[in-house]
Amino acid sequence: MKLDVNMLRYLSKEDFRVLTAVEMGMRNHEIVPCELVERIASLKHGGTYKVLKNLLKHKLLHHDSSKYDGFRLTYLGYDFLAIKTLVNRGVFASVGRQIGVGKESDIFEVATEDGTVMAMKLHRLGRVSFRAVKSKRDYLKHRSSFSWLYLSRLAALKEFAFMKALEEHGFPVPNAVDCNRHCVIMSLVQGYPFVQVKQLQNPEVVFETIIGLVVRLAEHGLIHCDFNEFNIMIDDDEKVTMIDFPQMVSVSHHNAQMYFDRDVECVFKFFRKRFNMSFQECTDDNDGTEVDTDASGRPCFSSIAKDAVFLDKELAASGFTKKDQEVVEKFIEGGLEKDASSDDEGTGDGTHISEEDASSDDEDSEDATHISVLNEANIKGVDSLHLLDQEGD
Ligand code: ADP
Ligand code: MG
Repeated sequence: MKLDVNMLRYLSKEDFRVLTAVEMGMRNHEIVPCELVERIASLKHGGTYKVLKNLLKHKLLHHDSSKYDGFRLTYLGYDFLAIKTLVNRGVFASVGRQIGVGKESDIFEVATEDGTVMAMKLHRLGRVSFRAVKSKRDYLKHRSSFSWLYLSRLAALKEFAFMKALEEHGFPVPNAVDCNRHCVIMSLVQGYPFVQVKQLQNPEVVFETIIGLVVRLAEHGLIHCDFNEFNIMIDDDEKVTMIDFPQMVSVSHHNAQMYFDRDVECVFKFFRKRFNMSFQECTDDNDGTEVDTDASGRPCFSSIAKDAVFLDKELAASGFTKKDQEVVEKFIEGGLEKDASSDDEGTGDGTHISEEDASSDDEDSEDATHISVLNEANIKGVDSLHLLDQEGD
């Protein structure tokens, strides 16, 4: 997806005000009627319609007249709101090239004023194959409504919380810098995705390190659930960093054993195929680790998980609640079972955000751009957004 951040510079204060008004309206409207946008934005000199047209031209909004006339945010519009907020907070000052495309994310370089480069991950839930989207929709049918934007925001919050907690426990993960909406800022990992590595100096050592990570995660009550050569980075010194955490589950999950075994199997399979390794040799040479293994040398889930110490407290400290976990876990699980191919058929912008979603918010009330702390009652009563006057130039 193209992200022309130069456009950010040309967007006026009014543009952002109206864009934010649409975001707010989406808390309880699938499509936000023009009059509501006008009322929430309450531009001093009017002209909301003209601004809407401009935002539409730049694809920050989508016009929908299927049920009634109105607008909703596109992912690009959501990107701009998150980027603007993080720039206002001083987290970074510029956006650079795209460095990764995941199934349901885009990753860009960003840089601070003093030139420190970091990674920005924009979550894009819903950007999967049509069938996967459908199965997820079916899964969510008990909910009156949902939103890809809302789910992407939860995925980002979860990723941020897990990354921070893992970092605090000494796991080799990127440094979790900040998070807003569907966007996570983290340190840039030096090195390459493991899938690109054809040769290793010390394959046995790297193998032990990687399997050791799966085991240590389980000892901390967690399973990565997508632990493969695409989500492991490795540098020239063969130092390993793991990434990509939105799908992690607890070892108490009802499918925990299966996810754990699958993560382990991915590692075994990759080393066998890519580095011609056979495993008896390296799992038998006891290097002081006391992990129960089965006859084939694979770590044994039940004996590890029974003594697991959970990271609940650390996760809660990042603002990620149990309820958030349930919602995102249920949603992402559909995708875990059968890995979705990444055609863009299902690209979804936000749809309706239910009241339940709207009330479970939100982190940064101190933030000028971020006004989603308001609930439905506030929205109805809102005449103008004084908050917004402080930001943008
Ligand atoms: P997805 O959830 O969509 O798979 P990932 O988090 O795995 O997204 O990121 C996709 C790709 O982006 C990775 O394979 C990697 O190449 C790159 N990437 C992600 N995070 C970083 C980072 N912190 N530093 C450097 N590259 C990264
Ligand atoms: Mg990945």
